[in-house]
Amino acid sequence: MYQFTEVAPGKYVLSLDNHVEIVEALNAFCIENDIFSGSVSGIGAINEATFRFLNPATKKYVDKSFAEQMEITNLTGNISQKDGKPYLHLHITASRSDYSCIGGHLLSARINGACELVVENYWDSDPIGRRFDEETGLNLYEF
Ligand code: FE
Repeated sequence: MYQFTEVAPGKYVLSLDNHVEIVEALNAFCIENDIFSGSVSGIGAINEATFRFLNPATKKYVDKSFAEQMEITNLTGNISQKDGKPYLHLHITASRSDYSCIGGHLLSARINGACELVVENYWDSDPIGRRFDEETGLNLYEF
């Protein structure tokens, strides 16, 4: 599913296998390496993806899927913990063949080409938790 190397204590460089779903792979990586507080960034190429938009007025999520070749121009996010599992909060911007960009929360994306990530484990920190916030409808950080 992926290969990785630890380049400094708690800092990993990952190469995900072609045709893998990115969020699934990242979840598996966090479980394998016990990462419950950290951050992630990366680039890559994908050909199917589902992004999410939260409408703050209705607190409803709107998900949209895309089936086309795109470059991940930026994938940025953080890693925390909820209900004993890694909680990934990921945002993505991806460019289309006409060079325009789309983006949103990343729910899923399938690699078609490569995907290279850097994951930083805040290894001397306790897991960072999440709690549901009524006002925003979001699972906010809980320190
Ligand atoms: Fe978000």
